[in-house]
Amino acid sequence: DTQETTFKRVMLKISGEALMGDQGFGLHPPTVERVAKEVKSVHDLGVEICMVIGGGNIFRGLSGSAQGMERTTADYMGMMATVMNALAMQSALEGMGVFCRVITAIRMDEVAEPYIRRRAVRHLEKKRVCIFAAGTGNPYFTTDTAAALRANEMACETILMGKNGTDGVYDKDPRAHDDAKRYDEVSYDEVLSKNLKVMDASAIALARDNNLPLIVFNLDEPGGFRGILAGKGTYTRVTG
Ligand code: UDP
Repeated sequence: DTQETTFKRVMLKISGEALMGDQGFGLHPPTVERVAKEVKSVHDLGVEICMVIGGGNIFRGLSGSAQGMERTTADYMGMMATVMNALAMQSALEGMGVFCRVITAIRMDEVAEPYIRRRAVRHLEKKRVCIFAAGTGNPYFTTDTAAALRANEMACETILMGKNGTDGVYDKDPRAHDDAKRYDEVSYDEVLSKNLKVMDASAIALARDNNLPLIVFNLDEPGGFRGILAGKGTYTRVTG
């Protein structure tokens, strides 16, 4: 069924918290399974899928350093956390028959393969889901930037930002303001100047400078990921 979507290759970015369920921390296997099913349903359409998963459900560099840890060490711990999430997602996807590679920005060859651009492209061509783990491999960055970076390198057509508890970008916090309105479309510059919550500023700038559109949608909506690729449901597009 290739009629349903025109997308050929996309980047899905989710936060680590998307995998923790109601636990408030860590990995919740049924939730990982649920997200993996959403990914599979898009994979079934023949779309080539890149993924970046955050690590905030396990560890964030900033909170570590706020507790006195040296910042770069704390950031490396955060990057390790993203590898754990990636491995959990790989396991769930492969359990459903979707072939998948975890590709790390920091070498750990016994665990996963290192990032080699042309090799990753080849995996995608063979319809393997590629999960890019360990962020950019550098402290002081976030997995949002890793998603923007890899999406550019892999020539993805868009970055899909799968959010929890919100279906797009609002002019103000919809939980605090009844009159908050969702944008159908908003520019990168407006996101930056109004400091709207989409991705961090360096990731937005990287997307803007390379004309990479973002789609912000609700990952909690069953079937939402597949629907969005067919242009259904509510979401916000961020473009030039
Ligand atoms: N991190 C990093 N460099 C990167 C990506 C991530 O140092 O390129 C670290 C950083 O400490 C961050 C943590 O990994 O706090 C987890 O990533 P992130 O906060 O982006 O996860 P999310 O909020 O999406 O779950």
